[in-house]
Amino acid sequence: MSDAKRNPEIKYTQIFINNEFCDSVSGKVFPTINPCTGVKICEVQEGDKADVDKAVKSARVAVKRGSPWRRMDASKRGKLLSKFADLLERDKDYIASLETIDNGKPYADSLDDIHASADVMRYYAGWADKNSGKTIPSDGDLFTFTRHEPMGVCGQIIPWNYPVMMLAWKLGPALACGNTVVVKPAEQTPLSALYCAFLLKEAGFPPGVVNIVPGYGPTAGAAISEHMDVDKVAFTGSTEVGKLVMQAAGASNLKRVSLELGGKSPLIIFADSDIDAAVYWAHAGIMNNHGQNCCAGSRTFVEESIYNEFVEKSKQMAEFRMVGDPFEDATQQGPQVDEEQLNKILSYVEAGKAEGAKLECGGERHGSEGFFIKPTVFSNVTNEMKIAKEEIFGPVQTIIKFKDLDEAIEKANTTTYGLAAGVITKDIDKAMTFAQNVDAGSVWINCYDMLTPQTPFGGFKQSGQGRELGEYALKEYTEIKTVTMMVQEKNS
Ligand code: ADP
Repeated sequence: MSDAKRNPEIKYTQIFINNEFCDSVSGKVFPTINPCTGVKICEVQEGDKADVDKAVKSARVAVKRGSPWRRMDASKRGKLLSKFADLLERDKDYIASLETIDNGKPYADSLDDIHASADVMRYYAGWADKNSGKTIPSDGDLFTFTRHEPMGVCGQIIPWNYPVMMLAWKLGPALACGNTVVVKPAEQTPLSALYCAFLLKEAGFPPGVVNIVPGYGPTAGAAISEHMDVDKVAFTGSTEVGKLVMQAAGASNLKRVSLELGGKSPLIIFADSDIDAAVYWAHAGIMNNHGQNCCAGSRTFVEESIYNEFVEKSKQMAEFRMVGDPFEDATQQGPQVDEEQLNKILSYVEAGKAEGAKLECGGERHGSEGFFIKPTVFSNVTNEMKIAKEEIFGPVQTIIKFKDLDEAIEKANTTTYGLAAGVITKDIDKAMTFAQNVDAGSVWINCYDMLTPQTPFGGFKQSGQGRELGEYALKEYTEIKTVTMMVQEKNS
């Protein structure tokens, strides 16, 4: 792959407020690291409370009565979203390079993420002039209708696992509904979002509609969730931090909250399935994006009669997985995002071994440079082990045995999470019984991790609040106003 792809020119490293790039108020910067090498790519302006205040002020002015954004036809908002989608695709090669050096994911996956992000923006472009209220048959001599209005200034806190895509999931519905936003990208991966800032300006969004403040969670992130003039906060990340965000919202101005959090999602494999297809789905379900996926199928449940064969084939597939340079076409897995994540995963491997799970393959670093780890498979796992209970967020497959449908449902639901689930079987009754009884926001039958712009995504239990994507996400960015008028009926 060409040198330009591997070493993209870094054009934007500043905070983006009111359609201008600026330095942080404190003058501080922070490094962003290439996880392939552990070497600093560049320094980025470090946003903090003072910068969030500036961004919120700009977003507030932009959403006020009479502002260009507030007065803009809803259909025009849609056109701006479509234009942004076009620009993402125009510059996809450059953005994919930024994403890969900052996050470590294979270049081809970065490109896929950018196309998927453009699709999401176009989907919400279509909704911009269709978020309509209702007329209500109220009792009495009254005429009642509802208006769907923007919430106002929305804070959006983004994770590092899909930097551009998570930005698109959040910007799409927020902007379609007429809100203004203050975005904080993850500190590990700020570069693609800052380039998107430039594209949003080029697309024609008025000043203040989108503001992007890179910085750390406990400072810039907390400044958003605690802010008295932010009307809503949308967060994707760990359940632990999700709880802090919700507390901060409650302790400040009761801003609306939507949370997309962690998971420990079950994938159930019945003995009647095509075993090779099942092995593939289970492998892809956990290994994709290096296991750094909130809906990863991180507990593989296999019916006992095919357990041994399934484990053997899963091990072979994991050993065959190509780990290495994310700019090489053949690479399926690059490095984990940072050293902290790598060490966390390795500590889970130790916990698995200590609790008696059998390490079939992997479980150690790949190479000596960067944050690579070998695809890992554990067999003889029980649902009570730490590796089956806690989110590892790495390429670690845990394979658990089950006897029958009832036990599969019972074990699948024995978790504090409820983000996603899957089932592989040729028996439609088993599939539907599982789908009806599993506590999960998304259930995949004979596939896994199939997300589209149209399908809502979010969690039951401690996997979150609210939904992203699809029509349901509009609700997370809409205030409903009821207008009631007294009608004096006239007889002529
Ligand atoms: P992970 O553990 O996978 O890194 P986090 O939940 O820590 O995920 O981070 C997700 C996002 O939340 C990042 O943008 C991060 O900076 C931000 N964040 C972390 N801590 C806080 C906090 N206390 N308040 C608000 N945002 C935070």
